[in-house]
Amino acid sequence: MPVLSGPLTWARAVGPRLATYVVLVCFATFVLAILTGSYSTITPRIVVTVCVLVFGAGLSVEALRRVGHPTGGVFTDLQAAWTLPMVLLLPPVFAILAPFPLTAALQLVVTRAPLHRRLFSAAATGISNLLAWFVFHAVSGAAGSMSTGSAPEQWLHHPVRSVAAGLLAAVVVMTANKALVFVAVRLSSPEARLREFIVDREARVLDAVEGCCGLLVTLVVVIDPWLALVAIPPMMMLQRSILHGQLTAAARIDAKTGLLNATTWNREAERHIAASLRSKIPLGVILFDLDHFKSVNDQYGHLIGDRVLRSVADCMSAEIRSYDVAGRFGGEEFVLLLPGAGPVRSLAVAERLRRQLDVQAVATDDGRAVHVTMSAGVAVFGIDGTDLTDLLAAADAALYRAKAAGRNQVHRASDLGRERATDS
Ligand code: GH3
Ligand code: MG
Ligand code: MG
Repeated sequence: MPVLSGPLTWARAVGPRLATYVVLVCFATFVLAILTGSYSTITPRIVVTVCVLVFGAGLSVEALRRVGHPTGGVFTDLQAAWTLPMVLLLPPVFAILAPFPLTAALQLVVTRAPLHRRLFSAAATGISNLLAWFVFHAVSGAAGSMSTGSAPEQWLHHPVRSVAAGLLAAVVVMTANKALVFVAVRLSSPEARLREFIVDREARVLDAVEGCCGLLVTLVVVIDPWLALVAIPPMMMLQRSILHGQLTAAARIDAKTGLLNATTWNREAERHIAASLRSKIPLGVILFDLDHFKSVNDQYGHLIGDRVLRSVADCMSAEIRSYDVAGRFGGEEFVLLLPGAGPVRSLAVAERLRRQLDVQAVATDDGRAVHVTMSAGVAVFGIDGTDLTDLLAAADAALYRAKAAGRNQVHRASDLGRERATDS
């Protein structure tokens, strides 16, 4: 029984449904690798191709060592540039197994993640690769390839058909992988929505870039596997420039909620206040603090507390206009800047958000509903201050009064706003 105590503790920690799913996916990958492996023939060309592609992929992992995985936001490591050629050119067992050494390298060299997550990620990619392998061979008409993969002649004689089938295979890998991962995410966070998971334009553009890179490397390997070495420097430069953009974007965002972090919010707010000073356009600042949030953590745990923070951020994002600026100031304090809003509109937005949060609840995995409320303080440019420090101080004082008056309410910094009931 002691042998089982580790896995059982793990299953209890991640939840029985997610644990079952992870074990099933990993086991299926293991069985498929054995089945497809028994068909494979190893030729010198296959050995060279594998070595060169694994070398390229290994270098792309090594390039991540210094920066790590950016958290929050979109992230790509361009690994498909090296693994897609394995799917398109090699026997299927390589398509299944390729993600495992790369994932192990990510774990050892770049970022430690829970082992089950890494294993699941590699297994899900392996199954997705296998599916793409079959789609590619069905569409391209490459014959006799279970043992040796697609022949270079196939690519050279039917380049358009092969590339079209390769593109389709790239789409299949990404779609199948996302579907498998989404099921896991859904099992651990029931409130996860498919729409949020897939509708991210920048992520899809990066997927397309990654797929096209994979096809380019494939074409080079078709000519001669050693030539893939030539693709390494440009791929690494591309990876570096994509990473730079992603790191810059990630540095703006609060990873837990997806809202702007305090530094970025302050910078944006300063910009809007400078514009208001020039043009006398009104502007509102609302400071929110969740009520008795400590007791939510105490009662349900920090993970559920984090889920509540995310739901508050989602509620804010859903209720505001695209040019309003929402940020997370710290722990469970949120801040909202409303360009063009005077006292009446600022108060109305704060009240609407307070009411929305009051009627919604976050579900825990065991079906309990977590309900939180928030208090808010509203300050308006030109009435409560003309710089950010004064506006935040005024909003904070109003928030303090809202707390003192019993919580779950909105207070404004001053009553002067009553005289200006006709703002936008
Ligand atoms: P009050 O109504 O007076 O605001 O009561 P409160 O319990 O919300 O008090 P306070 O604002 O001082 O407490 C903030 C709590 O928020 C303390 C901390 O446990 C929790 N918290 C801060 N940051 C995080 C976070 O990132 N995740 C989670 N889960 N909890 C956090
Ligand atoms: Mg609080
Ligand atoms: Mg607080």
